[in-house]
Amino acid sequence: MDSLYGIVDRLEETSRLTREEWIFLIRGRSAPLAEYLFQKARYWQHRYYGNKIYTRGLIEFTNYCKNDCYYCGIRRSNPHAERYRLTKEEILECCREGYGLGFRTFVLQGGEDGYFTQDKLEDIVRSIKSAYPDCAITLSIGERSKESYQRLFQAGADRYLLRHETADEVHYCHLHPPALSARSRKQCLYYLKEIGFQTGTGFMVGSPGQTPEHLADDMLFIRELEPHMVGIGPFVPHHDTPFAQSPPGTVELTLFMIGLLRLMLPKLLLPATTALGTIDPLGREKGIQAGANVLMPNLSPVSVRKKYELYDNKICTGDEAAECRQCLTRRIGSIGYELAVSRGDYPSILPEQR
Ligand code: SAH
Repeated sequence: MDSLYGIVDRLEETSRLTREEWIFLIRGRSAPLAEYLFQKARYWQHRYYGNKIYTRGLIEFTNYCKNDCYYCGIRRSNPHAERYRLTKEEILECCREGYGLGFRTFVLQGGEDGYFTQDKLEDIVRSIKSAYPDCAITLSIGERSKESYQRLFQAGADRYLLRHETADEVHYCHLHPPALSARSRKQCLYYLKEIGFQTGTGFMVGSPGQTPEHLADDMLFIRELEPHMVGIGPFVPHHDTPFAQSPPGTVELTLFMIGLLRLMLPKLLLPATTALGTIDPLGREKGIQAGANVLMPNLSPVSVRKKYELYDNKICTGDEAAECRQCLTRRIGSIGYELAVSRGDYPSILPEQR
């Protein structure tokens, strides 16, 4: 087998590695290897995106959830979660404020909440689209039928985020109750792509029981799916969940995985996540320097921010949206990047074909 550096070179050249190589690379990583990787990752980031960072305004519109994921603070069986739902008017108000601040993508994220029926969801999507026709709408509302996805797409949703969480079926069962499976999660992702959504998947880094083998399988799955976006962030324990005592994922491994993703699929939309900013005050800046090119600040009303508590100590729960945008402008300016005012679509028309 090649040296670790040789494997990184080959990943860049061919965009594919074997499972054994992925494992070898992830197990054998070091600070100098990571620096070598990040330099290459920044090359591709700049080639496709320059120094521009795309932003998406995140609207966490409900924390009711019928699911019971063992790691998540808004799981059904957490009786301490203070539940809330935003009205359509409140959601539109978030968009109005976000638009004024320069956001051209709105991400509606929530638990799997049956209160929001298919008709209600389509109505919300249509209303946002007619008020802001120049904006992209991203949905992140979990597993649904193909027909439901299709209708949401027809209503005007452009993108969908659904992290596969972990590609390994057994590990998936370690993190989720028996009603959920990696297989159906992946099936949803293939439906979403087929329908025409710009599709985002992703996983938590350092989730309980995760091994380099699992991460290798995540990379192989992502290579096969070829999504437009991949959201990864460290697992962060939540005090009211079965994994309250599990250690968080590390900044170091999260950054390394971001770099590998940028090299494997160089045009990817790759967020530097709030979870990364939560475990390290400079986590998002470091994420960008490892190859990330998207930030997803919160546009939810401050009154509900703390209630959408997926994990402990989530940052930015007290700040107004405007403060967040200014703060991010300053933060990324300090490392030579700028926030873009654009939809920030996946670049399917390339300056040079690759
Ligand atoms: N209900 C939607 C949105 C889930 S929340 C869905 O099913 O897709 C968005 C993401 O937050 C999840 O996909 C998960 O990867 C992440 N998340 C949840 N709990 C977390 C925790 N404790 N630490 C880090 N990330 C977490």
